Amino acid sequence: PPHGEVILEARRVTRSFGGLVANKNMDLSVRAGEILALIGPNGAGKSTMFNQLSGVDDPTSGEILFRGRSIAGLGPHRVAAMGISRTFQHVRLLPRMSVLENVAIGAHLRGHKGVLPAAWRLDRAEEARLLREAAVQLERVGLHGLMDEEAGSLALGQQRILEIARALCADPCLLLLDEPAAGLRLKEKQALAELLNRLRAEGMAVLLVEHDMDFVMGLVDRVVVMEFGEKIAEGLPEEVQRNPAVLEAYLGG
Ligand code: ADP
Ligand code: MG
Repeated sequence: PPHGEVILEARRVTRSFGGLVANKNMDLSVRAGEILALIGPNGAGKSTMFNQLSGVDDPTSGEILFRGRSIAGLGPHRVAAMGISRTFQHVRLLPRMSVLENVAIGAHLRGHKGVLPAAWRLDRAEEARLLREAAVQLERVGLHGLMDEEAGSLALGQQRILEIARALCADPCLLLLDEPAAGLRLKEKQALAELLNRLRAEGMAVLLVEHDMDFVMGLVDRVVVMEFGEKIAEGLPEEVQRNPAVLEAYLGG
């Protein structure tokens, strides 16, 4: 999609768990070539929103359109095939397998619901295709020099980038990243920010949940702030940072 085009639109998304309203009338839009941060205190409803945007969960009411099509009820595999890829809050790697194999297996599993790595049986041609695709994505993120290393031997920052390479295998135009900078050292955060800047320049849309405000403020185009399931503020990082409602949500109580 062309830069600036709205590719994801959530409209009045509400998700209730029994009596608890985890998301209430959430409106959200993401454009191609934009990095958007979703922030808010613990329990604000960020993960619930992420789960719905990636097809893991569905709204109680409201709708989510991706490139004009509703994703309701499609499930994570079909949503991924449409072009939305995600990473998870905790690194999910096979530590004794190589970096290349981890990316290739991830790419394979994305298209095959519920298959365990042990059941990774492919014909030669398909295996070769997956390994080639994995190598291309490792090159894209700058990890190709490490592709024969054991994934578990990588530093945390490199493991996070490996997971992004894996997410890129589905050829998404929207990346959902759950706390990509958590636990990283300054140098690693800088490398991650550099990669996300590069993907943005290619026209990728990135939506991230992140608690590290220094990382968020130096990187993103726009911030959406949630509290108690609702959007309480939205705007440029500088604007949001001095918004009284946001300061109250973080500091007050
Ligand atoms: P955040 O990611 O912002 O910390 P969550 O989306 O995880 O917030 O949670 C928002 C609220 O919804 C919390 O009160 C949480 O306990 C509740 N919640 C989330 N998922 C479920 C679920 N599957 N069942 C019941 N309650 C849930
Ligand atoms: Mg969460």
